[in-house]
Amino acid sequence: MFNLSSLPASKSESQHVKVLVLGSGPAGLAAALYAARAELQPLVLTGLQLGGQAALTHTIENYPGFPEGVGGSELGDLFQKQAERFGARVEFDSANAVDLSQRPFKVTTDNGEYSAETLIVATGASPNHLNVAGEVELTGKGVSYCATCDGWFFKEKKVVVVGGGDSALEEGLFLTRYASSVTIIHRRDSLRAGAVLQKRAQENPKLKFIWDTVVTESVGKEKVEAVRLKNVKTGKETNFPTDGIFIFIGHTPNTQLFEGQLVMEKGYIKVDDRMQTNVPGVYAAGEAADPTFRQVVTSAGMGAAAAIMATRFLELFVYAPNSSTNRKRINK
Ligand code: NAP
Repeated sequence: MFNLSSLPASKSESQHVKVLVLGSGPAGLAAALYAARAELQPLVLTGLQLGGQAALTHTIENYPGFPEGVGGSELGDLFQKQAERFGARVEFDSANAVDLSQRPFKVTTDNGEYSAETLIVATGASPNHLNVAGEVELTGKGVSYCATCDGWFFKEKKVVVVGGGDSALEEGLFLTRYASSVTIIHRRDSLRAGAVLQKRAQENPKLKFIWDTVVTESVGKEKVEAVRLKNVKTGKETNFPTDGIFIFIGHTPNTQLFEGQLVMEKGYIKVDDRMQTNVPGVYAAGEAADPTFRQVVTSAGMGAAAAIMATRFLELFVYAPNSSTNRKRINK
């Protein structure tokens, strides 16, 4: 195999890199690990959330190799340390413009500019908002999108959780450690969450459910005092007193930066089974490109695959474009 580190970089500026990874969640850091082990000295720009969404999860119980579960931020730290051990650099910086029209690709960040021979987009997703009255005004004053970050503030208080998916149940269960009661408000009469979480939630005495109901307002002046609820079957509206409103109603991929440059479907970057986007040399991995699985393990797998493809791309098109061996390799 080619030792890419022994080959000269095609530009001499210090900000020129062979592999630039955007995002520091499981996809980004797994990509960095694989690119680092290929001796490509990848640079990871963390984005605003170091460790991605996984780092905000209290305990991850379904990442293989951790039979007792592992803390989300602890797993992120381990990913980072492992990538750095092989030569990856991780910088706290965020991309705010990209030019993918020619290679090397240009990425402008809060702190400067980078040019990159290959780009791995692992920018993840952000929590959806309800978009109801009072939600923005009371964010941080009782409205939250992160139980791990804010749960502690609700010791012996009453909270509601909005949503019926895995996140709502997992975070709702976590909140029972602190809150005196946790009420899950779901817009239908059956949950989307997986069977294990459903069973655990139904067996927890602190967890209650309100079915067929949507939140129409976050009520309160200085802090949350209640949620305004509407039963979607009867149309009946009520105020439900609460100290906190935790919202877990899905995510939107962080891909706005690439609009008009990368092909997308419903906001997700379109990739083939090799993580290749429509721009040769640009790969996408994790929730930015995955509307289906969105698990830590699948995101990490996508990141690894993206880095393997970036390595092959560099071997074939950048450093040894005329090698027939490499031409065969890229199609394997
Ligand atoms: P999700 O699976 O998309 O569920 C979102 C939930 O919010 C659904 O129950 C949905 O209702 C509800 N919802 C959406 N928009 C709403 C609105 N405007 N008002 C009220 N309710 C609304 O999202 P998620 O729970 O964040 O999970 C995302 C992915 O991560 C999934 O693939 C999930 O399996 C995975 N995940 C896995 C784990 C785990 O395995 N431990 C933990 C967390 C997340 P409907 O059901 O009616 O659509």
